[in-house]
Amino acid sequence: MDADVVVVGAGLAGLVATAELVDAGRSVVLVDQESTDFLGGQAWWSFGGLFLVDTPEQRRMGIKDSVDLAWGDWQGSAGFDRLDGASPQDYWGRRWARAYVEWSAGEKRSWLRSRGVSFFPVVGWAERGDGTATGHGNSVPRFHVTWGTGPGVVAPFERAIWEGVANQRSHCEVGTG
Ligand SMILES: Cc1cc2nc3c(=O)[nH]c(=O)nc-3n(C[C@H](O)[C@H](O)[C@H](O)COP(=O)(O)OP(=O)(O)OC[C@H]3O[C@@H](n4cnc5c(N)ncnc54)[C@H](O)[C@@H]3O)c2cc1C
Repeated sequence: MDADVVVVGAGLAGLVATAELVDAGRSVVLVDQESTDFLGGQAWWSFGGLFLVDTPEQRRMGIKDSVDLAWGDWQGSAGFDRLDGASPQDYWGRRWARAYVEWSAGEKRSWLRSRGVSFFPVVGWAERGDGTATGHGNSVPRFHVTWGTGPGVVAPFERAIWEGVANQRSHCEVGTG
């Protein structure tokens, strides 16, 4: 009851949030309906392909990418068309998406690398859509496969949490599933 923050769900979102809070010196209780064997949730089973924009891996393969191109692709898929009226439904979704595309072209890669995440040198082309810059889907390859796939994405954040537990800065509480 004395923790600064309670995080519900020990999937990747919960692990990342907890690791950042532990780094910031906060005390955290992380709870999940599953046992600690399932830390990482879906991400552990995933292929670990991460959306990154205008990276060294892309440039090495001759792929020309940019925030503008990625933002165009995102809008082509999302179709944000509810932007009018007093409380437009797509307003925050669009703001979030724009921030995520900018982050994916900026700090995301270096932040992940600082956490120990590295990438397979060949960029994949998932969610390709119709293959044009004005239609839906990624018009260029952006699927950066994490070295170690899904477990490779989860590991640094799980490690940070157990270090936090060892330092008594976070507390990991689990249910019985
Ligand atoms: C096979 C597979 C491959 C994938 N490949 C990719 C990929 O290559 N690239 C990509 O970007 N994405 C991929 N994804 C999607 C990606 O893995 C997920 O979107 C992401 O991991 C979701 O993370 P999350 O933390 O939001 O949710 P989750 O991983 O679903 O975690 C939610 C957690 O909350 C817990 N929980 C739920 N309800 C409660 C409750 N009431 N009380 C307590 N705990 C609760 C669950 O037990 C779980 O641990 C893939 C997914 C799968 C399944």
